[in-house]
Amino acid sequence: MPLLPDIAEKLQHNLHCIQQRLEQALRQAGRSGQPVLLVAVTKYVPEEVAAELVRLGCRHLGESRPQQLWRKAEALPGEVVWHQVGHLQRNKVRRTLRYARWIHSGDRWPLLQTLQQEAQAAGVRPKVLLQVNISGEEAKGGFRPEELPQIVPRLEELPDLEICGLMGMSGLGASPEEKSRQFGLLRGLRNQLQPLCPPGVELRELSMGMSDDFPLAVAQGATIVRIGSALYEGLDLERS
Ligand SMILES: *Cc1c(COP(=O)(O)O)cnc(C)c1O
Repeated sequence: MPLLPDIAEKLQHNLHCIQQRLEQALRQAGRSGQPVLLVAVTKYVPEEVAAELVRLGCRHLGESRPQQLWRKAEALPGEVVWHQVGHLQRNKVRRTLRYARWIHSGDRWPLLQTLQQEAQAAGVRPKVLLQVNISGEEAKGGFRPEELPQIVPRLEELPDLEICGLMGMSGLGASPEEKSRQFGLLRGLRNQLQPLCPPGVELRELSMGMSDDFPLAVAQGATIVRIGSALYEGLDLERS
């Protein structure tokens, strides 16, 4: 079903605003011209809207539920680079690796081992981020910061994964100061962990920042932001 023109227009407008706010945050952080990858999270919208985002130039799309990622990946054209950003169950790894080039939610050792086995079997080398619980909330997944110095040297057991950075989410309802502190914690951890990494593992990427807090994350060094709801503000999705 084609999108109504007002929905496509609104989407373009929202995307443009987000790109401007990204550029402004980079300027203010003294990072002008540095690349930040915008991952458009499509979990709230049907595939027609996701397809429109692709037409508008968003090649990197993210989903938090694996089943949604599979479904949209099968429906959408091949040029999309898919990111699994939410919790991934081990029994969904094989199918997810058929579509997702990036896994942001490498949040526990057994999952990393399953990813390794399935990537090797499929002959692929996905990009994987280590998710860290930077807010300390019980409900959030991720490695605890203090366990990572023991985990990182073991990454040499995972040759078929390209472990390339860290991912974190700020606390629900945290103040801007607290969020900035949490994002700063992720950047500090990256710097602290890099010397402990086996040869060939480079923690370049910091995937942090969502609709409500991406400028704060960019100020703390984010290289990837994952944005959903801000893209869809004012969209009347019931009619799409
Ligand atoms: C939903 C989701 C996002 C996007 O969140 P918004 O606040 O809608 O921008 C980013 N990352 C993860 C892991 C998510 O589940």
